[in-house]
Amino acid sequence: MIYWGAVLMLVGALSFLLPMLDRQFVVVSLLSFTGLSSTEIGFIFIGGGAYLFHLGKEQDKAIEEAAHAPLRERGYCLCSNCGALNSVTDATCSNCRSKL
Ligand SMILES: [Zn+2]
Repeated sequence: MIYWGAVLMLVGALSFLLPMLDRQFVVVSLLSFTGLSSTEIGFIFIGGGAYLFHLGKEQDKAIEEAAHAPLRERGYCLCSNCGALNSVTDATCSNCRSKL
């Protein structure tokens, strides 16, 4: 999502510059048939891209926080005898068979 947000913002920003070179993105040209000016389309692309970029950042932050949650919250515990990773539902260690 971050990638597509960045692409949309880039297309939106470049859609302001390309007309100086007598060029325009095909997608912007096609959308101009809806009656919107290329300036409006550029702002829509930048706004949509910024929104997608923001959503992607929020998603990455949530994944990062979930990855750093304590083991118990993720359903795991460490064996006090050997340090092996076990499920909290296990009664004995899967590695050394000691009681968890
Ligand atoms: Zn163990």
